[in-house]
Amino acid sequence: MTRAHRVLIVGGGFSGLAIAWHLQRHCGLAPAELAVLEATARTGGNIASLHKDGWVLEAGPNGFLDNAPATLALVDDLGLTHQLLPSNQASAKRFIWRAGKLRRISAHPSAFLASGILPLPGALRVALEPFVPAKRDNAPESVFDFARRRIGRHAAELMVDAMVSGVFAGNARELELASAFPNMAAMERQYGGLFRAMWAKKRAARRQQIARAKIGGPEGPAGKLTSFREGFETLPKALALHLNDSIVTGADVTDLARIDGQYRLTTSDGRHWQAPSVVLACPAQAAARISAALHPGLSAELDAIPTAPITVVALAFRAADLPGLPDGFGFLAPRHQGLRMLGCLWSSSIFAHRAPPGGVLLQAMFGGAHSPDLAHLPSDTLAAWAQEELATAMRIAHPPQWTHVFRHPLGIAQYPLGHRARMKRIRATLTSDLPGLHIAGSAYDGISVNHCATEAPKIAQAVAQEMRRLTTESN
Ligand SMILES: Cc1cc2nc3c(=O)[nH]c(=O)nc-3n(C[C@H](O)[C@H](O)[C@H](O)COP(=O)(O)OP(=O)(O)OC[C@H]3O[C@@H](n4cnc5c(N)ncnc54)[C@H](O)[C@@H]3O)c2cc1C
Repeated sequence: MTRAHRVLIVGGGFSGLAIAWHLQRHCGLAPAELAVLEATARTGGNIASLHKDGWVLEAGPNGFLDNAPATLALVDDLGLTHQLLPSNQASAKRFIWRAGKLRRISAHPSAFLASGILPLPGALRVALEPFVPAKRDNAPESVFDFARRRIGRHAAELMVDAMVSGVFAGNARELELASAFPNMAAMERQYGGLFRAMWAKKRAARRQQIARAKIGGPEGPAGKLTSFREGFETLPKALALHLNDSIVTGADVTDLARIDGQYRLTTSDGRHWQAPSVVLACPAQAAARISAALHPGLSAELDAIPTAPITVVALAFRAADLPGLPDGFGFLAPRHQGLRMLGCLWSSSIFAHRAPPGGVLLQAMFGGAHSPDLAHLPSDTLAAWAQEELATAMRIAHPPQWTHVFRHPLGIAQYPLGHRARMKRIRATLTSDLPGLHIAGSAYDGISVNHCATEAPKIAQAVAQEMRRLTTESN
């Protein structure tokens, strides 16, 4: 039997749920006209919060920056604004592990020089950034090459590569600047450099502050990491609750076909689903497998988008067993500085309620594009390494009370050199050969939850427009 719908969404992660929500809430689709097909037994995808004896552990994403109107609007739409949990003030302090010490990152020139994050020639080279001419051609450039050109080799190797590990779990030498960090590319294009852009933005913020002081208004554009008291999963859980009648879990989509202008999806248990519009909101590798028979060219392009696996080790300590309470966001561990971990989030310092009174929660990350094999090592090995390296970096002499390991074999999508051109080809193929088929999620144009939230209403609108056109044509 084939189940007929107007829209089918493959993947019940945050993207699939947010698109379904917009289709129902703002585009007038009835629950029975839409199905969200999710392969696993739960929705939410990467976003999962585990509650354990007063501790709140995040399997993957810890939160979102509160500077994207789309996420905040969605939160508001769902009636969750009162449950938002901004990160603590302390989390403004961030550290880098270098030459056997944790060193605080500071934007203040003299503090930055004194931090020892960069050797003196490296720090002085950063100061020359405003004098570096802007790149005028449009040739693709890696994040590393951009950083080396603008702020020098030392900063590129010690700071930017680690920052890229922290955001993408990626390799700065491989990632395409315009795809991975479009804002940085724009800063050079529009203002001639990074410092010039920051100064201009500061001036604009100051003017806005003066205007806001006169009329009253919300916080500035900086953005603060934000989550929910009960964990980040509060957001996809609320979406899933509203969409309950449209969600089908245990529906592992294996094939996509096109029959008489309709798409037909098949799940691994042999069920069929049919609709004129389909959104593939699953990881690119899954979308590649699903579309392999229908359009081998599209499938090959999707399959070529790499990912970097990540394994997260959560460690629960007694506060009394630490030399002092962690005070900050955590630290990044650049390569060749002696640690195998990518870095560590000081989770209970970032957010209140992540540990019970007297407890400290830390989360160490392993794997990423530089050392993908580490992400697949046994849990015991990674937990032991995390403990050992935190003992060194944070002088923790006592073992944790317990550890918990979360695995993300597909991890975070990577946007390597040529990604922008690949995305142009993918979009052109969808428009010309596969009308009614859409792709969504963090594999394509932005890896953050904010990006997925921003794209969701646009994709829903495009789908709704298609449905209107089909209705007009059939009348
Ligand atoms: C370790 C880690 C930490 C992160 N931290 C942050 C952070 O702090 N802030 C932030 O903004 N972003 C973060 N991200 C990125 C964030 O996870 C993504 O932006 C977001 O979760 C993407 O949601 P999605 O729905 O596109 O994909 P996913 O969450 O991957 O959901 C895809 C869904 O598709 C389903 N699926 C797969 N194949 C099939 C199939 N064949 N049939 C049916 N269903 C299928 C999957 O089961 C899954 O539920 C992090 C990512 C990772 C891995």
